[in-house]
Amino acid sequence: MPTLKDQGLICCDNFIDGNWVSSTQSIRITSPATGGTVAEVADGTREQAELGVEAAHRSFPNWSRTSAKERSSVLRRWHDLILDNVEDLAALMTWEQGKPIAESLTEIKYGAGFIEYYAEEAKRVFGATIPTIAPERRLQTYKQAVGVVGAITPWNFPNAMITRKAAPALAAGCTIVIKPDPATPLSALALCELAHRAGLPSGVLNVVAGSDSQGIGEVLTQHPKIAKFTFTGSTAIGKLLMKQCASTVKKISLELGGNAPFIVFEDADLEEAASHCIATKFRNCGQTCVCTNRIYVQESIEEAFTQKLREGIRSLKVADGFTADTDIGPMINEQAIAKMEQLITDAVAKGAELVLGGARHELGSLFFQPTLLRSVDDTMDLVTGEIFGPIAAVQTFTSENEVIDKANATDYGLAAYFFSRDVGRVMRVAEALECGIVCSNSGVFSTEVAPFGGWKQSGIGSEGGTEGIADFLETKFHSMGGIDR
Ligand code: NAP
Repeated sequence: MPTLKDQGLICCDNFIDGNWVSSTQSIRITSPATGGTVAEVADGTREQAELGVEAAHRSFPNWSRTSAKERSSVLRRWHDLILDNVEDLAALMTWEQGKPIAESLTEIKYGAGFIEYYAEEAKRVFGATIPTIAPERRLQTYKQAVGVVGAITPWNFPNAMITRKAAPALAAGCTIVIKPDPATPLSALALCELAHRAGLPSGVLNVVAGSDSQGIGEVLTQHPKIAKFTFTGSTAIGKLLMKQCASTVKKISLELGGNAPFIVFEDADLEEAASHCIATKFRNCGQTCVCTNRIYVQESIEEAFTQKLREGIRSLKVADGFTADTDIGPMINEQAIAKMEQLITDAVAKGAELVLGGARHELGSLFFQPTLLRSVDDTMDLVTGEIFGPIAAVQTFTSENEVIDKANATDYGLAAYFFSRDVGRVMRVAEALECGIVCSNSGVFSTEVAPFGGWKQSGIGSEGGTEGIADFLETKFHSMGGIDR
């Protein structure tokens, strides 16, 4: 068990209707770096999820009628408390998820940014006055909170994937029941403790962490008192949950998997491109939905660019997330490691050249060597699917049209990156790529003020920006008659 400055942030029960609720069974939370036990957390059940929904439903009328200014103040206090406790929250995250402590600190601040932003947006939810079609009538629209929200979130961003949903939902006046990933519930439960301290009324935010994903998932996707369901996770599970939502016609938002291309044109600044490519590829040990997945390098610069990648990747420090200057921590579990081995075996068998890495790291446990492959082609599994791990896979292209076709030849459409100094090309390529987020001459784009969402099978809806709160609001049209009698 980690020691924190505020031990009250280690919460091991589920949070339902403003109370900490224990279970007869528990989930053992282990450190991916050491395999040691971090905590035993109450294993939430389907029945507890139902209690959470009932509590959220009971609290909805009051919370949705609370003034926007009051909702904003509570969110603002929650944000401030998170930043006051940023080091403890980051330590908890590195314990249970494994990412380097610097990345955990960044995630907590990023996650808090959504709460700050939506505390402000709460006061700017406007309806419209529509020019009338008859003298005795007035036409208006109102924006109203959609109702109780069910949410399921993954382990790779145990804080920000929660705040990105909860903050706009609460700002809009919705109440929420969240199922965090059972591998990383401590981050979610610590957020509840701070929300409680901030004065969030009982029942408005409920968290049920449990190993019965299917049972809890069925409650959150099928319960008639839930109006909206929001999910972040893989495309395969997203499709399943979408089907489950059909029986009660819930509004849905899905943030699903990605297969991001990273394109380097021959006029690019190669030094910059290589450094951003490595950052986007290896963040969180390659386990993010917007990680670079397919690296396309124009033929004439492949040798020079691959050399820069090789040097940069070789210098990455693999270690426990608490060790100073760690770049790459452990993967989340043994299945993730086995998947890396399978992807590399498949690629090499089909003709890829292994330049660096390719095996489990000498640190043992769940550590894997940062890996570089070249001469990759479109038949390989690491091109057709999401790698979700520390493998950089380089292939070449000759023309702009060819690489756009290749980049778009996937069912995914989340993020895409490209480097070019030609302003005309920057505009053409940005417009041609089929994805929700396009990032030119940089690998950095995440911010609470802009929409984050996938096209094609990468999702439905957006989180962040003004779009992020719109997903938690219904529009009502009021046609008012009898005005000019
Ligand atoms: P996952 O297997 O889809 O799981 C995501 C969450 O869904 C987990 O909490 C999981 O709980 C739960 N779940 C699984 N099966 C379920 C079911 N039948 N009913 C209800 N809940 C169920 O994805 P993951 O491997 O944890 O996360 C990685 C994926 O998330 C990647 O594909 C990544 O690209 C995507 N992702 C997308 C975004 C985005 O913004 N677009 C952001 C982050 C991650 P259990 O672990 O208990 O099964």
